[in-house]
Amino acid sequence: MKRCASTGVALAPAEGPLGPISFSQICDVMPIGVMTCDLATFTIDYANPSSIALLHSIRGTLGIDPDRIVGTSIDIFHPNPGDQRDLLSQPGNLPHKTRMRFGDEWLDLSIHALPGPDGRVGRALLVWSIATAEVLKGQEEYRLLRMIDDMPVAVMTVDPATYRITYINETSKRTLSQIEAHLPIKARDLMGASIDVFHRHPTHQRRLLADPANLPHHARIKVGPEVLDLQASAVRGTDGTYLGPMLTWSIVTQQVAAEARIHQLAHYDTLTGLANRSTFRERLEAVLAREGSALGLLFIDLDGFKVVNDSNGHLVGDALLCQVADRLRALCDQPGTVVSRLGGDEFAVTTPLTEPRALAAFADRLIDALVAPYPAEGERSLEVGASIGIAVAPEHGHEPEALLAHADMALYAAKAAGKRTYRLFCAEMETRMRDRLRIEAKLRAALTSRDELFLFYQPIIDVRTCTVTAREGLIRWHQPIRGWLSPGEFIPVAEESRLICDLGAWVLRRACEDAATWADKARVAVNVSPRQLGTGTLAPAVLEALLASGLPPDRLEIEVTESALLNDEKAGLADLRRIRDMGVRVALDDFGTGFSSLAHLRAFPFDKIKIDGSFVRDAVARPDCAAIVGVVADLGRRLGVTTVAEGVETQAHLDLVIAEGCSEVQGYLLGRPAPREADVAVIEGFTGARPARSAVA
Ligand code: C2E
Ligand code: MG
Ligand code: MG
Repeated sequence: MKRCASTGVALAPAEGPLGPISFSQICDVMPIGVMTCDLATFTIDYANPSSIALLHSIRGTLGIDPDRIVGTSIDIFHPNPGDQRDLLSQPGNLPHKTRMRFGDEWLDLSIHALPGPDGRVGRALLVWSIATAEVLKGQEEYRLLRMIDDMPVAVMTVDPATYRITYINETSKRTLSQIEAHLPIKARDLMGASIDVFHRHPTHQRRLLADPANLPHHARIKVGPEVLDLQASAVRGTDGTYLGPMLTWSIVTQQVAAEARIHQLAHYDTLTGLANRSTFRERLEAVLAREGSALGLLFIDLDGFKVVNDSNGHLVGDALLCQVADRLRALCDQPGTVVSRLGGDEFAVTTPLTEPRALAAFADRLIDALVAPYPAEGERSLEVGASIGIAVAPEHGHEPEALLAHADMALYAAKAAGKRTYRLFCAEMETRMRDRLRIEAKLRAALTSRDELFLFYQPIIDVRTCTVTAREGLIRWHQPIRGWLSPGEFIPVAEESRLICDLGAWVLRRACEDAATWADKARVAVNVSPRQLGTGTLAPAVLEALLASGLPPDRLEIEVTESALLNDEKAGLADLRRIRDMGVRVALDDFGTGFSSLAHLRAFPFDKIKIDGSFVRDAVARPDCAAIVGVVADLGRRLGVTTVAEGVETQAHLDLVIAEGCSEVQGYLLGRPAPREADVAVIEGFTGARPARSAVA
């Protein structure tokens, strides 16, 4: 009898087809654990070398020396040794397979009855191996499967050969049951079904999924009223072979609706539903990017919308803008014509028209439509005007930036030309715009250095007493290169920017300072631009000038034109009231040239009305102008307001305005605007000639 080399247990030689090879020789080289157990004593009486090696790996939890396993009780392998012994005692229970855990390791054990030569089962054969790796793999797979089942995304896998569904997770089943009314198959029958049920063009889908080069593929498909978001990706084996497509998908109907809403909000104006500024820009860019593209761009700005909006409230303003949008839409129904709202009361139209005459006719139609009265609440109707600037691509620019800037310049020109009209861009506009910017920069510098700005004074004389009652301050700018600039050249530029407020404050300070030195105590009249009103800066500037100079408020007279009351009537009037409350006088300048509305005379208690020089000059030859001078003078008398005739250049003018009843006069005949004494020398330095002496007392 041979002894097993590793355990010393004696084993009977194997008989039969193995010939001389013994059982123990086989067991010595077997890569799995083999042990035998004596069922009389329940002790292990044989363990092959693999068993001992395996026992080393679970040594920690077993608590025995693996080399001494032979002779050890089998009980050490079982938490309930009694149960194990019961199992082994009944040969009918065998073979028995079990998986046991030892610490971190798992064992797969199979126990077989081992009958002796007499046929009686006296021993059990235990064949075992460590199954930890397999168990963990199984657990991992299970975990993954559970995870995929519970994922909030629907997952399906497809056999690329048959296009049948090979796996479908729980979420898929749930999601599909929501839309199965629109599918030719019930959710529960999908496993094993053909993927073709999801597609209107099954062959197309099959072709797509057959080749992993097409994947990942993203699609949105409509199933009844619902939208499915579908992503097909390739599942590959560790060696990279294509195992088939995996489809992940979800119902995105609500998301699609929300996206559509966001798109609407981002690209369209919420008030009017027209394309918004960014959409307009994108489209313009797209059209201009096309080779050989030509288009006309019309920039539309409503005239007087602010007044309507401020005086009627924003709801009325909004309703009016909607009506404007409707009118524009109706007129822009030709193919390729697109209307957008750029913001506020600004609209833009792009049109395939590029021929100046066609564009002009189109602009005229737009203006006519927009200036027609807008029905408002009750019997009322509202009115606004519209000005349009036109630029044409490619002549006036290939780039959106340039084209927009040029249309804007044309709009500016249309506004400057009196509104309710259109202008087509021309190069001169750009030159003028540049000039304006240059003047603005220089004026800003002049306001800082202050050695180029002068305030000239022109006397205003009482016709009865022949005394100077006031002197009007008139600004002059002397530029080193261009020489003298009249206010008409730079006041509008200052008004375009906020410079007018700084300029106005400077004039006020200088006027009060100078007037405080006048021996005759005449008043000083200061012109205030409509743009200074409603900004909240006028009253503080007036107060500061009075305080700094010590001039009594009743010696200051502010001259405003009627247009000051038009743009933003309420804020303008509030500013005027504030300065009048300080004791400062307020005069209405250039009466007769603007709206000459009696309502303005009622809206504010002016201290003086100045009749524009154009009436005075024409009055001698034209009886209608003389009549106007007379009527205004009469009106002034009745209102208890001084009337001044401006622009009195000749004796005939003077005689006429006196005859018509004006109480004061101003004009070259009585004194030209002239610098204060302190500036005379400086000005002589510029011109080499003596300026007209001011009639300063
Ligand atoms: P305005 O207030 O009506 O000033 C009267 C204008 O008529 C002045 O022109 C004056 O020089 C001119 N003038 C006076 N007498 C005669 C005359 O007999 N015949 C003729 N043909 N013209 C006469 P100027 O100085 O060129 O000012 C023009 C306008 O510029 C002023 O009209 C006023 O609206 C504005 N302006 C002048 N200075 C200022 C200022 O400091 N601030 C503001 N905001 N505007 C100013
Ligand atoms: Mg004036
Ligand atoms: Mg005037």
